[in-house]
Amino acid sequence: MTLKIVQAGDPVLRRQSRPLTKEEILGPSIQELIPLMRDTMREAPGVGLAAPQIGQSIQLAVIEDRATYIKDLSEEELAARQRSAIPFHVIFNPKLTVVDNSPAVFFEGCLSVAGYQAVVDRALDVRVECLNERGEEVTINAHGWYARILQHEIDHLNGILYIDRMKSRTYTTGENFFRYWMNHDIEEVLTEVGNEKPEATNASSPTSGLLICP
Ligand code: ZN
Repeated sequence: MTLKIVQAGDPVLRRQSRPLTKEEILGPSIQELIPLMRDTMREAPGVGLAAPQIGQSIQLAVIEDRATYIKDLSEEELAARQRSAIPFHVIFNPKLTVVDNSPAVFFEGCLSVAGYQAVVDRALDVRVECLNERGEEVTINAHGWYARILQHEIDHLNGILYIDRMKSRTYTTGENFFRYWMNHDIEEVLTEVGNEKPEATNASSPTSGLLICP
């Protein structure tokens, strides 16, 4: 059984989620939720899933970067992303500290913004203090892609989506990502899409109603 993943626009994705007590973590409802979130993440497939994405405003996320997900990436691609397999684990009530703010710049996507990707700057090294699935305090030191996953998932617990941080001119459908961008290094992508910000428009627009490709 898997859970429904909510999409951008659902207000739960914009709420600050609430921390859990150790008793709640050890209780049956959370212990039963963990394998459901794991299976939902695997089926998607994704490398992380935060509780708001399944409609629950609580500070819980599951993470796993499986060897099978990265087997088709070349040595150079893995090295560029600083990516390696990460075993399944759970984080509760995480506190994130940036250890090395050197920018790591890559495309990322989100199961709640299904079908799109964009370039997002993330810190290269982070430390996360959190509770594990047994309610024990743990400290995670993460580098590279793993640090990116943690920053993305912890953002979810604070009501933040990657689209709030993305380089918006790199926003692309998944199909066009594979067609045009996947095999370019990020510097080339940024040069190609340019940095132009549009002029602000002064035209008055209705405050309600929907403007779609006029
Ligand atoms: Zn996400």
